[in-house]
Amino acid sequence: MAKYLGPVCKLCRREGEKLFLKGDRCYTPKCAFEKREFAPGQHGKSSGRSKSMSGRESDYARQLRAKQRARRVYGVLERQFRRYYAVSLKRRGLTGLNLLQILESRLDSVVYRLGFATSRSQARLLVTHGHFTVNGRRTDIPSMLLSAGDEVQVREGSRGSTYFKDLPSLAEARNFPAWLTRDAKTLTGTVQRLPERAEIDGSLNEQLIVEYYSR
Ligand code: SF4
Repeated sequence: MAKYLGPVCKLCRREGEKLFLKGDRCYTPKCAFEKREFAPGQHGKSSGRSKSMSGRESDYARQLRAKQRARRVYGVLERQFRRYYAVSLKRRGLTGLNLLQILESRLDSVVYRLGFATSRSQARLLVTHGHFTVNGRRTDIPSMLLSAGDEVQVREGSRGSTYFKDLPSLAEARNFPAWLTRDAKTLTGTVQRLPERAEIDGSLNEQLIVEYYSR
C-alpha cells in the first residue's frame, strides 16, 4: 500500500472525530474539523460517518474503523500495522495492549511524547532528517522500537538550528507521560518502561482491532 500523501485533515473528517494530527493547529479555530464536521467528498454529509450515526454500523464496520483510526493516529501503513499485530500476538499478555505498547514505543511516537515535536508527523520528519540519536547512535528510522533503558537525544550537530534552539523552553511547557523521563535542557529522554493502558489514548479501542484481525 502506498504512503498516504493527501491532506491529513481529511483523515479526521473521514473518522468523524479529531485525531490531532497537525500539532498546535488542531487546538485553534483553523482546525478543518471544527469548520466541516462531516466526511469529505460529495456525499460526506450523508455518508453516515458522523458519531451520531455510528449506531447503524455493522460489527465489521466498527472493527475496521477502530483499526483505521489507530493506524491514522500513529501514521502507520497497513502492512506494518499488520506486522505489529503479529508481533503483539506472540508477546505475553493481552494482545490489544501489546499492540498499543508497540505503537507507543516507536521512536517517532516517543519523540512526540517527550514534547520534542507537536505531532507524530512532525516527530517523524525530525527523525527522518537525522536529528536524533538513540543510545548515542544517530538514527533516521521513525519506526525503530524502543525498550526500557533506551535514551533518545537531540543530536549535538542539530542543536544550533532555530527549531532546536527554541525547543528546551517549549518542551518544558509540554507534559510527558510517567513511563518516560525527560531533561528538556539537554533535550534528552529515557524510556523507563512500556506504558500502561491508562497512559495510552483512551479513545483507541484495541479490543475491536483484535476482533478485526481475528476474523
Ligand atoms: Fe484533525 Fe488537526 Fe486537521 Fe483538526 S487541524 S482536522 S484535529 S489534523
